[in-house]
Amino acid sequence: MEQVDVVVVGAGVVGLAVARALALAGREVLVLERESRIGSVTSSRNSEVIHAGIYYPPGSLKARHCVRGRALLYRYLEERHVGHRRCGKLIVATTAGQLAGLPGIVERARANGAGDLRQIDRREALALEPALECLGAVLSPSTGILDSHALMLALQGDIEGAGGTVVCRSEVLRMRVCAPGLEVTTADGTVLRARAVVNAAGLHACALAGVTGGLDRRHVPVPRFAKGSYFTLAGRAPFSRLVYPAPQPQAHLAGLGVHLTLDLDGQARFGPDVQWVDSPDDLAVDPQRALLFEAEVRRYWPGLPQGALQPGYAGIRPKISGPSEPAADFCIQGPAVHGVAGLVNLFGIESPGLTSCLSIAEEVHRLLQA
Ligand SMILES: Cc1cc2nc3c(=O)[nH]c(=O)nc-3n(C[C@H](O)[C@H](O)[C@H](O)COP(=O)(O)OP(=O)(O)OC[C@H]3O[C@@H](n4cnc5c(N)ncnc54)[C@H](O)[C@@H]3O)c2cc1C
Repeated sequence: MEQVDVVVVGAGVVGLAVARALALAGREVLVLERESRIGSVTSSRNSEVIHAGIYYPPGSLKARHCVRGRALLYRYLEERHVGHRRCGKLIVATTAGQLAGLPGIVERARANGAGDLRQIDRREALALEPALECLGAVLSPSTGILDSHALMLALQGDIEGAGGTVVCRSEVLRMRVCAPGLEVTTADGTVLRARAVVNAAGLHACALAGVTGGLDRRHVPVPRFAKGSYFTLAGRAPFSRLVYPAPQPQAHLAGLGVHLTLDLDGQARFGPDVQWVDSPDDLAVDPQRALLFEAEVRRYWPGLPQGALQPGYAGIRPKISGPSEPAADFCIQGPAVHGVAGLVNLFGIESPGLTSCLSIAEEVHRLLQA
């Protein structure tokens, strides 16, 4: 049986960031990825936004990792010449209820350590973005966008530079606690003995924990899947910042509303909406939803041309809370939680997981040292 120091399951942005941190700390790391390419699941089906850390409950893992992760990420992107732009974002109110909620957004961001937000009036918002319609807005200057694929390639480069290995087309079928460490069985029948395993399997993390012999099932959450579809704009959008609708008062925040994000070439996409689905593979975009999107977008961009939205792509949020429950925090379980030495399970790493990846990696490294 082959022996390895650390197996990281999943080569999404989080698994890669974790593997990089461990490899740079001198550990022998093997990343196993079931798809034929790294980062081809949720990590390439998102908005590619570097979030400031605005919405999450103060003190939550999402708030902490987003704020720290953003700082680490901007530094890393600069050092590694990975494409990104600190373009800023406007959170816009188009109803009196939303307007009344804007000071609360600024306050919450401050409590989270994202202190550079400020509320602006309609005139200032329209001076920044003349095509916009709103009653007022919050400006977040440190929100940005990045090339997530270039980020993942840079992370992979660091892993390999530090002696680690990334293997694609290598699905982990099951694991077994086998003190000290774990036994990992892959789809081709290979059995590896690892001193430590990080389960960064994203949408499949709960399922993988469920087939980990010796792990108490009480620690495995029920996975929930919330699809987010995007529509792209034919032609250029007359915006240079990201535009998000302010949360509707009392709305259940499964997503952040149909917002406008830009890629590094200035191409606009709208989304994601929220559609609860049964399968993590349900990635089809229903063209009929264009009408709903148009109605949402016209609230803040009345000039959206008729029929300009085209079905784009969809991503699925790896949730661990359901439609009628309060939104769950990231769930990062190390040995102190489940009692299995050398195992870290990452559950519910939905947004802002991309922004948070380098900070989550620091935490996983700490948990495996303890
Ligand atoms: C619609 C949407 C929009 C988002 N927008 C943003 C945003 O703008 N900013 C932000 O910060 N975050 C955003 N996020 C969140 C972000 O995309 C995720 O948090 C992040 O990509 C999660 O990365 P991951 O590595 O945990 O998961 P994944 O990218 O899903 O990677 C997991 C990997 O594990 C592999 N795998 C699964 N099972 C196995 C197995 N048994 N054996 C081997 N490999 C396996 C999969 O193939 C996959 O490659 C968004 C998410 C969604 C869905």
